[in-house]
Amino acid sequence: TTRVMEALALSNRPLRLPVSLASTRYDVVIGSDLISRAGALLAPVLPRKAAIIITDETVGALYLNRLEEALAQTGIATRSLIVPPGERSKNIDTYAGLVDSILKEGVERRTSIIALGGGVVGDLAGFVASTTLRGLPFVQIPTTLLSQVDSSVGGKTGINSRWGKNLIGAFHQPLCVLADVSALATLPRRELMAGYAEIVKAGLIGDPELFAWCEKNGAALLDQDPETLAEAVRQACAFKARVVAADEREEQKTDGRALLNLGHTFGHALEAELGYDGRLLHGEAVSIGLTLAFAVSVRLGACPQADLERVTRHLEGLNMPAHIRDLPYSFKVDDLMSHMLKDKKMQDGKLSFVLAHGIGQAFTTRDVPAQTVRDALVADGA
Ligand code: NAD
Ligand code: MG
Repeated sequence: TTRVMEALALSNRPLRLPVSLASTRYDVVIGSDLISRAGALLAPVLPRKAAIIITDETVGALYLNRLEEALAQTGIATRSLIVPPGERSKNIDTYAGLVDSILKEGVERRTSIIALGGGVVGDLAGFVASTTLRGLPFVQIPTTLLSQVDSSVGGKTGINSRWGKNLIGAFHQPLCVLADVSALATLPRRELMAGYAEIVKAGLIGDPELFAWCEKNGAALLDQDPETLAEAVRQACAFKARVVAADEREEQKTDGRALLNLGHTFGHALEAELGYDGRLLHGEAVSIGLTLAFAVSVRLGACPQADLERVTRHLEGLNMPAHIRDLPYSFKVDDLMSHMLKDKKMQDGKLSFVLAHGIGQAFTTRDVPAQTVRDALVADGA
């Protein structure tokens, strides 16, 4: 029993990852059962003992009571606002409705906004926090793997416009991020795999040891081993925090935050072609986009074939989508090319891409011949 107790104590001690930026610093706290301990974890961080929790119906049904009770334990008064789940809540009407509810009841400037949910809730609540009374303190409690490893770190908040995704937004850094890996137990496996693609991406961009760690531990992670999940979240957040610290507001055109788009130009084209209707999750599109980025890199002589094979083998080994032909939909090369030319990251109509010299060696380039991209798409099943 002592060993069991020790193991329990260990798993209950959260990891703290400090994020240091020019504008601010905060901790990403990573561990099990953090929602139940949110009162103790947040009391030292919040400027006053009052918060408005924003969540979605699905996450709210699972975790909202637990969070409200935990905050009440340390005397933090809360009220909660619940939006429908899914990408469609990241719209201007839902945003306006939330701000209106907050103002209607009256809000003090030092009241915090707490986002409880995935990236949709985090981006939406963060944008509400960044704009209401010119900025309310903000806390993220991400409940999807994607939001724990990616969207909750970096300070980008926002909503979609009818002209495209994430076109309305602001940078607003949180006071604190609580990444509770226990909450991932209720996440559908497909969502878990989609988030995992962004961890693999981090390794492929600039952390070869993280990619090697994924090769060893990916299967245990997808089987929800809590220690493995916590370690993956820590490594991926540490990677993103390093990139964000060097380029907080995405002002560098070449390396910096732009590298975080590895696999995303291809991925966005696949998502856009399906009309962002949920048939293909963002991380699934990224998973295919990663192999395409390596395939184009190999075609241009920038990257060894062996590295492309390593990436493909890893994704396929975990039953992640790795090729366009893995999807039950057909795509036309011309349609995918035209989406890529419309991508907001394209400049002056040139195809700008994140490619790789090898695993952990991503770079940005604007000299990618369209024909090379077309050939890679055809070879992949378009
Ligand atoms: P999401 O927030 O829609 O969550 C996915 C689904 O899982 C939803 O239906 C949600 O209700 C449900 N869910 C969430 N947590 C759950 C849990 N613990 N158990 C059971 N169900 C749960 O999607 P996401 O993948 O987390 O985030 C995608 C969004 O993140 C996109 O809008 C994207 O633009 C944004 N994003 C932002 C950044 C950034 O830097 N701000 C980075 C990457 C992605
Ligand atoms: Mg992404």
